[in-house]
Amino acid sequence: MARYRGSVCRICRRENLKVFLKGDRCFSDKCAFDRRSYAPGQHGQRRRGKISDYGVQLREKQKVKRMYGLSEKQFRLFFERAERKKGITGTNLLVMLERRLDNVVYRLGFVNSRAQGRQLVRHAHFLVNGRKASIPSTLINQDDVIEVKEKSRSMQLITDSLDAVVRRGIPQWLELEKDNMKGIVKGYPVREDVTMPIQEQLIVELYSK
Ligand code: SF4
Repeated sequence: MARYRGSVCRICRRENLKVFLKGDRCFSDKCAFDRRSYAPGQHGQRRRGKISDYGVQLREKQKVKRMYGLSEKQFRLFFERAERKKGITGTNLLVMLERRLDNVVYRLGFVNSRAQGRQLVRHAHFLVNGRKASIPSTLINQDDVIEVKEKSRSMQLITDSLDAVVRRGIPQWLELEKDNMKGIVKGYPVREDVTMPIQEQLIVELYSK
């Protein structure tokens, strides 16, 4: 299945949760979830019936997959990598998703959403340890340094995002040198760094069927 290309606000309304996919708009009174907090579609305002266990697991997987903007195939591959690692598969999965370069530039505040992060990474606006990095799925490591390329430092999208990052805050495993447009990876993220309400065990159960 290809990556979701429909209205991202429908995702929040479908999952009954603000997933914050539209940058500044998510914090404004234009947020579609705040305006219409019922499921999208013709029957969206009907009471939600009881969902089967499978349905609950599926919704959880869809939520996380769309939060990070991955296709089913990409998400499945991440899951399989998480499964091969030592430790708890669900936690491994979330930690690996957090370590993706497109997520890290978002967390550092260089962009307003992961989708923007993916686009700007693809267009090679960032350096990792002084080298061009244009693959959004690259996993960053401890002590990596991520910076905005010299030529891209005046991009309004980046400067505006950096001004707005205060509202979101920077996770403890990252450090931002705002004036230098540089981020340092102080350590690896832990489960508690993913603050969105996610029940990753449901995803493990779904894929274990
Ligand atoms: Fe979700 Fe943001 Fe759209 Fe609100 S504005 S519905 S939080 S993506």
